[in-house]
Amino acid sequence: MIGMARRPIIAGNWKMNNTIAAGKQLVKDLAPLVKDNKDVDIVVCPTATALAGVAEAVKGSNIHVGAQNVHWEKSGAYTGEISTEMLNEIGVEYCVLGHSERRDYFGETDEGVNKRAKAAFAAGITPIICCGESLEIREAGNYIDHVVKQINAALEGFAAADVAKLVIAYEPIWAIGTGKTATFDQAEEVCKAIREAVAKKFDQAAADAIRIQYGGSVKPATIKDLMQQPNVDGALVGGASLKAKDFSEIVNF
Ligand code: PEP
Repeated sequence: MIGMARRPIIAGNWKMNNTIAAGKQLVKDLAPLVKDNKDVDIVVCPTATALAGVAEAVKGSNIHVGAQNVHWEKSGAYTGEISTEMLNEIGVEYCVLGHSERRDYFGETDEGVNKRAKAAFAAGITPIICCGESLEIREAGNYIDHVVKQINAALEGFAAADVAKLVIAYEPIWAIGTGKTATFDQAEEVCKAIREAVAKKFDQAAADAIRIQYGGSVKPATIKDLMQQPNVDGALVGGASLKAKDFSEIVNF
């Protein structure tokens, strides 16, 4: 909806990059470059091992920390997984869920994303729920149906008032890490369709409030025009979030 006062949110997904030392250095370099930015929620998402160190390093700054995944059970025999309690303990406020790399390489399902999102939200961690289509689906023309199906599944069982507080990241897989960014019109078309789907499944208030990011080769040169799109409220940034200067230029668009 044009003119809605949604606060922009820009998150850096570090993926499997940065040791604890490198992650702490990156936020140390980033903090002075973004310290005057009062208009954007700034989030960095390190790997699991670096979460605690980075969370400590950003204390007192306007940089927030997100994880890259979380399990729905509180504890137990789930080798390799992390619980919401573990993230709460170190002050993690966001969690990327259902990234296409997790879906494609590690068998993440829509049902799993929904369970993880509900557990995260219940624990006070804001889910950043990823969706997006492959090149094959894009070329076949049914990409909106595909993305809407992913979002409807991820949001199943949420209350409308809670949906308003979530973040969705639309990331066309063909634009991730490829340098091939979607056009602004392509990003807007799908983000708008996601918002309409939220209105249909929940209500207009939830649709007006939910924040929708675009992700896929976002760079300092493209962020300004991207943020002009009425239904794009931020970005999920991979490669360009690994350099303090580039990420600062993106968040300070
Ligand atoms: C991502 O994987 O979330 C992403 C958007 O990566 P990149 O910016 O490198 O395309």
